Amino acid sequence: MTLPTEQLAGRLEGLREEHRQLIAQGLSLDLTRGKPSSAQLDLSAPLLSLPGEGDYRAADGTDCRNYGVLQGLPELRELWGGLLNVPAAQLISGGNSSLALMHDSVVAALLLGTTDGPRWVDTPGVAFLCPVPGYDRHFGLCEKLGIELIPVPLTEEGPDLDVVKRLVAEDARIKGMWCVPTYSNPTGATYSERTIRELAAMPTAAPDFRLFWDNAYAIHHLTEDEVTIPDVLGLCAEAGNPDRAFLFASTSKITNAGSGVSFFGSSPANVKWLLGHLSKRTIGPDKINELRHMRFLPDAEAVRAHMRRHRDILAPKFELVRQILAEELGGLGIASWTEPAGGYFISLDVPEGTASRVVELAKQAGVALTPAGATYPYGKEERDSNIRIAPSYPPLDELAAATRVLATCVKLAAAERTA
Ligand code: PMP
Repeated sequence: MTLPTEQLAGRLEGLREEHRQLIAQGLSLDLTRGKPSSAQLDLSAPLLSLPGEGDYRAADGTDCRNYGVLQGLPELRELWGGLLNVPAAQLISGGNSSLALMHDSVVAALLLGTTDGPRWVDTPGVAFLCPVPGYDRHFGLCEKLGIELIPVPLTEEGPDLDVVKRLVAEDARIKGMWCVPTYSNPTGATYSERTIRELAAMPTAAPDFRLFWDNAYAIHHLTEDEVTIPDVLGLCAEAGNPDRAFLFASTSKITNAGSGVSFFGSSPANVKWLLGHLSKRTIGPDKINELRHMRFLPDAEAVRAHMRRHRDILAPKFELVRQILAEELGGLGIASWTEPAGGYFISLDVPEGTASRVVELAKQAGVALTPAGATYPYGKEERDSNIRIAPSYPPLDELAAATRVLATCVKLAAAERTA
């Protein structure tokens, strides 16, 4: 049932009063960033005392306390290569942040060129496709480096292929595209097999076009259905575009956020290319941290069991938000939201032109929300309708309170607009 707009407008005074009462409560709640909660971090508590005094040798006897092994420990690459669908020889384990590896890759391509093309800075108007809504830090990285951001719609099956294929076929300035293929940030969409096949095979005007394949949520399931996506590197190679995909991932939302290990996977030529650049930037990764991760999560089953423990903490939070949104906003015809099966975010759509107002009203009532538009290039969404919700960090009682405030603000903003 859709609530007639006049009826909503008629409730304006009541909603204003509700909002005033919320302000009076002096709340201080936060639904902004997708950080793991303390309870999730506690799952990795043993890492703080691993590998332990006297334990510093990798499987092949390497002394991890010393310099070297630029590509990362072989046993770590073997294990995570299996989980990420990348042969160990084609995987680099880097430092603590996959975003840093993305930054390194973009900077290297800009300043020095790729394996199959000249440096991107020499392409006037060099641009990336950005499926929207998407991850603000991907967009910010490009914006900072002077790369133009071109939004393309993200559907439930991945980026809108008709739009993407047309743009990359006709515009040689487009050198890259951001992709979060599993449980995307923020809608939770997982790319379909057809989407991945087409992205791997589509003709591109730029011969050195790259998919920035950020598989940050590859194993971050919220249900028992543990979705996997097809092997993008294999599909690119099969389609005759072996160097098209740069794959990224990290254990930031598996072990400790910001002190995990990160990964880059690609073709042998691209791996050699990035190692060439990394070798000028570092003498080697933090192998003690790599060893610590090996000791804590020694095999794929240990990783999966660990992710199930994350799921047990996270799934009730997502369910709580879903329930409250359904209770408060269901049937009003003013909002829709995603119900992701994995990842860290829920994407909420409110009436056009009201997202910024919702964020402002929530702030007045003591609930911090990610700025409206943050999930769009340049922080601007023309329609002003999308809000990203990050349910992972607050405890359940705070999450419930914050979501109720949010729902009231959505109704109030909609009523103000129609009044
Ligand atoms: N990619 C995506 C899609 C993310 O959501 C995040 C964290 N919010 C990152 C990358 C950051 O990863 P890292 O900690 O490895 O830099």
